Amino acid sequence: MIVSQAEAIANEKDKSTKKKTWIHKAQNVRDFAWASSRKFIWDAMRVDVGGKKIWAMSYYPKEANPLWGDYSTHLVALTLKEYSKRTFDYPYPVAISVEASNGMEYPMICYNYGRPNPDGTVNPRIKDGMFGVIIHEVGHNYFPMIVNSDERQWTWMDEGLNTFLEYLTELEISNTPWGKKAILRATPPRAAIQNTSRLICASVRNNWCPL
Ligand SMILES: [Zn+2]
Repeated sequence: MIVSQAEAIANEKDKSTKKKTWIHKAQNVRDFAWASSRKFIWDAMRVDVGGKKIWAMSYYPKEANPLWGDYSTHLVALTLKEYSKRTFDYPYPVAISVEASNGMEYPMICYNYGRPNPDGTVNPRIKDGMFGVIIHEVGHNYFPMIVNSDERQWTWMDEGLNTFLEYLTELEISNTPWGKKAILRATPPRAAIQNTSRLICASVRNNWCPL
């Protein structure tokens, strides 16, 4: 835990008017995004990928808990392990999942939805969607970010490969200690293949933008 919930609650009470400079440095990236908020809780864990230690991290406000604290960073770590096993080793030093209203991918950082209801209850569909979107957007690091295909011209290529790997990764959730307690539909491999081919066809037909 780099910034705990108690620290984030203290941070959000006050606002500095001073200037702060952050210098970001990244190798072999084709795009850039970042996120900042004094509301952010920040947790992190190390993942072993091909003998290298990668930081899996999440930024989220207290309103996203307990879902985000329980699952986001675990999902990032699982995605790095599964995608690296099935394709190539993740080359970047970090992968970050940021809580947001929708899903969008950038190198090393992505934005994902999924909050509990204000009364603290959790809609299973939201939770299911959150699991899928985090795996999916972290997965876009591999396709198209690292292989550097053109996601605007050939959307079907990265969405197709990524969605297929996303479903295979979802199947591994129930094999993890944290995933055993998560109620989740598991997409069977056959449905994963059918869904992926449907997505590729729709993407080519409608000339979709990245998602
Ligand atoms: Zn996508």
